[in-house]
Amino acid sequence: MQVDTLIKGGRLVTPHGIVDAAIAVRDGRITAIGDEDSLPAAAEVIDCAGKYVLPGLVDPHVHLGGGRPLTEIFASETASAAIGGVTTVLQYRRSGTSFFETFPAELEVARTRMLVDTQFHFIIATMEQVEEIPKYAEEFGVTSFKFYMGGYEPGNPIGLVTVNDALLYVAMERIRELGPYGWCMVHCEDDSLVSHLTSCVKARGGNDLAAYTESRPDFVEEQDLLRAIWLADLQNCPLYVPHTTVGMAVDAAAESRRKGRTVVLETCPHYLALTADDERLAAQGPGVGKVAPALRDTEHQAELWRGLREGWISTIGSDHVPIAKNGRGFWEEAPGFAGLATMLPVVLTEGVLRGRITLEKVAETMSYNPARLFGLYPRKGALQVGSDADLVVIDLDREAVVGPEVTQSEFPSAFEGIPLRGWPELTMRRGEVIYRDGEVLAQPGSGRIVEKVAPDSTKGRNWHAA
Ligand SMILES: [Zn+2]
Repeated sequence: MQVDTLIKGGRLVTPHGIVDAAIAVRDGRITAIGDEDSLPAAAEVIDCAGKYVLPGLVDPHVHLGGGRPLTEIFASETASAAIGGVTTVLQYRRSGTSFFETFPAELEVARTRMLVDTQFHFIIATMEQVEEIPKYAEEFGVTSFKFYMGGYEPGNPIGLVTVNDALLYVAMERIRELGPYGWCMVHCEDDSLVSHLTSCVKARGGNDLAAYTESRPDFVEEQDLLRAIWLADLQNCPLYVPHTTVGMAVDAAAESRRKGRTVVLETCPHYLALTADDERLAAQGPGVGKVAPALRDTEHQAELWRGLREGWISTIGSDHVPIAKNGRGFWEEAPGFAGLATMLPVVLTEGVLRGRITLEKVAETMSYNPARLFGLYPRKGALQVGSDADLVVIDLDREAVVGPEVTQSEFPSAFEGIPLRGWPELTMRRGEVIYRDGEVLAQPGSGRIVEKVAPDSTKGRNWHAA
């Protein structure tokens, strides 16, 4: 039987190895993988001789909000995802009231405006929302919930709400009952320390990136990380730590796992590749490179790379935040920057081409692991028969300098002006070519909300055994 598309000549990258093989795609799924001669004829043939083919990235950490209407943001930012080889985004949603009042409308916008596939995490701020966690899981299939342990004072420009330990403690009781995709996620920055240190730094007149990092140094994250691990241990609740920046997290997670606990770490491209003393960032204007937690130094970075190599850090998320700079001064700028379009070339350039991690590790931490952890595997996260035909073709030799014409984004990148290699040439989502040679081809509304795969009860929750 004829298939729709044949992707031939590529080197397929999986967490377990690299093989030269062709992929046959029909009705949006991978129907066969093998020697080109052994595969059926296809209506369209994509030749990617000499290029690497990775499973489409599953970005576990995306914020889609900010100052523009969701109808615009969902379309523009998922176009950015397609450019970056990201075929599924796990996006955070928050609500000032019950999610039953706000989320159904957002779900409808997601259904009609996105270009890539999606699933959701909720940001929880009140005890009322905590009480509703089981119902959110039942109604919406949402099983991962993020809590800000600190770092955002009342009146902060983004409107984030810090929770106390009691709320977290109660939430963990609810979340641990949600099955293998239930995750308590914690933003680790201690509230009182960040407030105190911020006033000290401001009083000294500090107003640059280095001063910002001094106002929220490594130990404010380390303290909250240890407290979160301790609470999760008391409550026997699986813990997922987004955007890890500190080296000690690697050993803390290792120690917890040896004791049989479930602690999963995520880091981000900017913590792997940028430091607080970066002169290029400083020269680009106030607030560029400002992010929470803050950028650190090369010693922390070396530990993060080791964590990835040894499997203690399981995922890499972009922490994409589509916000424009307001020009009102360093401390007034909101933290965060766009990252979807650049996450893969950053990790390939700084990680693979510098010999710090392998291509197989990229497939593992940027596709396979996030898909498994959040219930999307094997539909997502794999180049295998039966999986959705989500893939990205990359050219490790092609270099381009990060800028708006490459990322096609109006929102600033922290990597502006940096030459990177390994840009996606083609991105396919469920068999449809959604990006090719600089052009986004998908239409808003072609992305889907991915249903979670029923967990395999025989396998338990042994996420860190590869
Ligand atoms: Zn966070």
